[in-house]
Amino acid sequence: MKKVYLDHAATTPVDPRVLEAMLPYFTDSFGNPSSIHSVGLEARTAVAEARIKVASLIGAGTEEIIFTSGGTEADNLAIKGVAQANAHKGKHIVTTRIEHHAVEESCRYLERQGFRVTVVGVDLDGLVDPEDIERAITPDTILISVMHANNEVGTIQPVAEIGRIARARGVYFHTDAVQTVGHIPVNVNDLRVDLLAISAHKLYGPKGVGVLYIRKGTRIDPFMHGGGQERGLRASTENVPGIVGLGRAAEIAQAEMDAESKHATHLRDKLISGLLERIPQVRLNGHPTQRLPNNVNISVASIEGESLAVSLDLEGIAASTGSACSSEAMEPSHVLTAMGVPAELARGSVRFSLGKHNTEAEIDRVIEVFPRIVGRLRAVSPLWTGKS
Ligand SMILES: *Cc1c(COP(=O)(O)O)cnc(C)c1O
Repeated sequence: MKKVYLDHAATTPVDPRVLEAMLPYFTDSFGNPSSIHSVGLEARTAVAEARIKVASLIGAGTEEIIFTSGGTEADNLAIKGVAQANAHKGKHIVTTRIEHHAVEESCRYLERQGFRVTVVGVDLDGLVDPEDIERAITPDTILISVMHANNEVGTIQPVAEIGRIARARGVYFHTDAVQTVGHIPVNVNDLRVDLLAISAHKLYGPKGVGVLYIRKGTRIDPFMHGGGQERGLRASTENVPGIVGLGRAAEIAQAEMDAESKHATHLRDKLISGLLERIPQVRLNGHPTQRLPNNVNISVASIEGESLAVSLDLEGIAASTGSACSSEAMEPSHVLTAMGVPAELARGSVRFSLGKHNTEAEIDRVIEVFPRIVGRLRAVSPLWTGKS
């Protein structure tokens, strides 16, 4: 049985064209970009070309692209680096209750270091109100961090509006755009962000490589010290094959984004209406329209999300409960909790995240299989009383 993979928010397969671009940089062109000889030059050129492709995808200058080991490192560098470099101006940070753990835990760490963090809530659709962000700003606020689109429920935040506020108030603005770059248009100037995190493996590139966009003139300290790579902001010999892969993935995304987004939106809407029609007492989590083209997150009353995901897996369908990082714990998702979804419903949540290789037939299969699983689990659930 061919697997139906519907967990692209957790990770995506490497596009064969990306792999093909990467391979020579493991063997023939293995040089160190810092070396002065021609072997090094070859690697240096490849990194420079990848930098142009990533910069072009997000409307940045090449000198504003810093390659990292992934989205997590990019978030850490943005938050800790800006906090460190601007602590003399103030020690207050504004963020939200729905951030990825990479942002959440970086802020928590800074709190232990004596910074103050204000955590703004969201509405029932998972939307941040820019006015709440503005109200949270104080004279010693140095950084605002609000993600572009949420990885669990797919809600796309009014980042450009928050960027306008941040700029007017002279506060640096970071966004985790790991779920949006390569999937929907992202332009750092339209969004008015100063720092933006990207991860290659969420856009059909390899794992272990990402980018922090840093607007020219932003005061930021590195936390990796060593050789002067990446303008001194991220020491260590560059992950040349990974960077080349990210560059190629960015190039492909730029060319194919429109078509892919239409494809995903079509399958997404088909899956949403198919499931909502066939299953009683379910709700769609996240904003009904202002959401990622590939995200479907639903809560099923009276069942544990874990049971649903395991049953789906037995049918060859890979989906996720909330976020991959917290699925070990039985705690309801912090995102759904922040949105005010009752704990009982939050625990019964499943996320389907679609990708470019998914087909109509696969979605039909989920629409057929999932209601059957729900019926079976509810039949043995002591919580289920609705006999519809
Ligand atoms: C996956 C993800 C990350 C982490 O990226 P890695 O490259 O796996 O470290 C950060 N933020 C969001 C929103 C993500 O979905």
